[in-house]
Amino acid sequence: VKYKQTSEVLKIMKNLEQVRNIGITAHVDHGKTTLSDSLLAMAGLLSEKIAGQALALDYLDIEQKRQMTVKAANVSLYHEYRGKPYVINLIDTPGHVDFQSKTIRALRVIDGAIVVVDAVEGVMTQTEMYLRVALEEMVRPVLFINKIDRLIKELKLSPTEIQQRLVQIIKDINSLIATYADKEFRTAWQLDPAKGQVVFGSARDRWGFSVPMAQQKGIKFSDVVDVYQRGKDALPELQKVAPLHEAILDMVVKYVPNPREAQAYRIRKIWHGDLNSEVAKTMLEADPNGPLVMLVNDVRVDPHAGLVATGRVYSGTVRAGEELWLVNARLKQRVLQVGLYMGPYRELADEISAGNIAAVLGLDKARSGETVCSLAVRDSMTPFERLRMITESVVTVAIEPKDPSQLTKLIDAMHKLSIEDPSLVVKINEETGEFLLSGVGTLHIEIALTLLKDFYGLEVVATPPVIVYRESVRAGSRVFEGKSPNKHNKLYISVSPLDENTIRLIQDRIITEDMDPRDRAKILREQAGWDADEARRIWAIDDNINVFVDMTTGVQYLRDVKDTIIQGFRLAMREGPLAMEPVRGVKVVLHDAVIHEDPAHRGPAQLFPAVRNAIYAGMLTSRPTLLEPIMKLDIRTPMEFIGNISTIITKKRGKLIEVQQQGNLSRVIAEIPVAESFTIAEELRSATAGKAIWGQEFSRWAPVPDSMLMDLVAKIRERKGLKPEPPRPEDFLGP
Ligand code: GDP
Repeated sequence: VKYKQTSEVLKIMKNLEQVRNIGITAHVDHGKTTLSDSLLAMAGLLSEKIAGQALALDYLDIEQKRQMTVKAANVSLYHEYRGKPYVINLIDTPGHVDFQSKTIRALRVIDGAIVVVDAVEGVMTQTEMYLRVALEEMVRPVLFINKIDRLIKELKLSPTEIQQRLVQIIKDINSLIATYADKEFRTAWQLDPAKGQVVFGSARDRWGFSVPMAQQKGIKFSDVVDVYQRGKDALPELQKVAPLHEAILDMVVKYVPNPREAQAYRIRKIWHGDLNSEVAKTMLEADPNGPLVMLVNDVRVDPHAGLVATGRVYSGTVRAGEELWLVNARLKQRVLQVGLYMGPYRELADEISAGNIAAVLGLDKARSGETVCSLAVRDSMTPFERLRMITESVVTVAIEPKDPSQLTKLIDAMHKLSIEDPSLVVKINEETGEFLLSGVGTLHIEIALTLLKDFYGLEVVATPPVIVYRESVRAGSRVFEGKSPNKHNKLYISVSPLDENTIRLIQDRIITEDMDPRDRAKILREQAGWDADEARRIWAIDDNINVFVDMTTGVQYLRDVKDTIIQGFRLAMREGPLAMEPVRGVKVVLHDAVIHEDPAHRGPAQLFPAVRNAIYAGMLTSRPTLLEPIMKLDIRTPMEFIGNISTIITKKRGKLIEVQQQGNLSRVIAEIPVAESFTIAEELRSATAGKAIWGQEFSRWAPVPDSMLMDLVAKIRERKGLKPEPPRPEDFLGP
């Protein structure tokens, strides 16, 4: 472990030639965790301050006690190569269940990856899958062939046989690089062991060497065989002549591009804004004096510090005290503290500049994937990725702790989970006092429950999952009269489905309720073909994408009750007439109205029912339907399983959207209704002998098949304690 002054490390970080940002990828059990632990133990940076406090304890011991390698978003390593100091940031790249979005996001903040391969097992499906995704993101691979000890002790191979096997693994990796790398790197990134682009060793026994290092130090494979034959006592010698961290980090320093070199070719791949803009230029150059641009790849709750957003600064410099713009959240927040990583610990810094990994406090509205930028470029900044609508968490379970005394702990843990994973939504049902946990699918909920158990030691009981539907219409209605209970107020209202373009504009928040009405009208006219007059007369847009338009002229007292009518509209849209599920995608138009002159006769108790009655009668005569959530699956699988996968998808009312073929791997993009997804994980696993990996996300809302509609409506209504038949339009029309 290296003890350093924070100021010294900050100085190194200013010189990007001395910085590397890397990750580790491996097939499960090939040694990713053991390698990161070994590197942290042997090259972990520790500030002198912390070192002073922790002097009595062995460093690794503290780490294991606190499970820091599991918890830290980033650990920084220190390495000297040819007399020069380097800071190497090792970023956690999650695998398997978190595969898609989290893994790819982590890949976006690193420039190189150590691919770990078990010498006995060789290149396996996940090796190939992760390597492929890394290459697609232009992350440069280097290779560590691990568990050489097994070749000697278990397989009892001779030095020549060992070398033959290693050559084969390198060949396999190189052929994957030739297949999956971007054209310009297919040859340049081929791994040559003679150049030190491959390390052979044992992560568990903490030794390793590359070919040039072996030559320089006079180590041969026969020496290694000898060491293992002599037994445990000989190992320290090998660890001393061939320390693992030296071999690995030499390779990293030499062959992983520094942040500036990498940004020069990677920006165009990971960011889709205008490459001729000023911001693009400063990102391509990793210019510390440009406007700030940072990609947050990890958000965690620190019990002492609050919310810590960790990410890579691509341009400019992040400073404590500065106000910044959160592009996806669309708001500004002030940076309270800026930190850098020393080993797994955060230390304070005044500022962190482009090319580096920063930990920022104060951005508590930022979520993983957020793009943070200077206020100066807020209007023109294209984000690295748009966050999905987090309200589309469509599967819900109610949970409670097995041990009632752990209730407070559960609330706290659930809150933290939902911050670290924004698509998990936590709510309290005000009527029943239940805790509701919603996610994009059942697997998502399962993972959350596992995390509650593994990380927070909380055993919970969960109800079976319930799916949220939406209500909508498929035709336009005639104008209906909605009467208030006292019959003194009358509203003349029609409903119709919103078109896809309008829905998209609202969903992407290009159109919002509080924007300048003239700007809004212009966009609706030009991009969604709205009539100019209607476009100017929008009164309200609710969270579930319904629009209220006022087309009346000269109605007396209407202005006085405008807010009450809008509120009535919002309430009506929260629970539709079919099954009391939220309404989505409906345009409500007010054509005419009669409003009583006396305010005492036109309050909410009168106007809410009037609005609701007209809207519900309209909806029930406009081919009403339920929309069900459809999720997208992104599956990577060996080719031979495509038939099996396709069978499962079809059986579940789903369809294959796209099948891409490259090398031995296929990528299948498919959609299935969330309602059919409850056992998808097990089915995919057994249909592919456990070899497929996949990510899932919310895709869209789609009408349920007509043949299922009425049964489903009845089922939902019964669950809610309503009579199974939905109301008729007449039920909402006065005598
Ligand atoms: P991960 O799933 O890739 O993170 O793999 P781990 O680091 O958890 O390692 C999986 C198993 O392999 C563990 O039981 C390790 O102790 C073992 N292991 C890791 N490195 C070596 C090694 O160099 N030699 C041997 N024989 N076992 C190793």
